[in-house]
Amino acid sequence: MSRIAVDFDGTLVTKAWPGIGEWFPGAIRSMHELREAGHHVFLYSSRLNPCWPDGRERDPGEWEAELRRVREMLDSAGLAWMEIFTDIKQGKPHFDLLIDDKAMFFPGRPGSWSKILPAVLLKVGDEDSFEAVMAEADRRTEDE
Ligand SMILES: [Mg+2]
Repeated sequence: MSRIAVDFDGTLVTKAWPGIGEWFPGAIRSMHELREAGHHVFLYSSRLNPCWPDGRERDPGEWEAELRRVREMLDSAGLAWMEIFTDIKQGKPHFDLLIDDKAMFFPGRPGSWSKILPAVLLKVGDEDSFEAVMAEADRRTEDE
């Protein structure tokens, strides 16, 4: 049994912030299949973080309404069993796998960083740094 954390916006549903998008085809069925295979699947979304990205606390009533909105959406999709992680005091939840549209696979091997760095820079839209990293890699290759 694995603990699988699943993002919401852009992963289970299409991006529509601050609204809520449509379920991605296969998302609901896949959650059920993971659960039926014996895995612990739970929702882990920054949408349900009680703080804004700048650290300010959200209005508790607004945050609770957002939580209810997502809970109702899960419930009406037959996913009432799906836990929603909200305990940010606990920090990053324990999981074996994170499914997230903003995540990048890290191989965890020597040399992995130099292999993924260009893709990371492109993913965050930092083309200047991407060009600098690629130019440096080209210089190293020419020195070999
Ligand atoms: Mg997302």
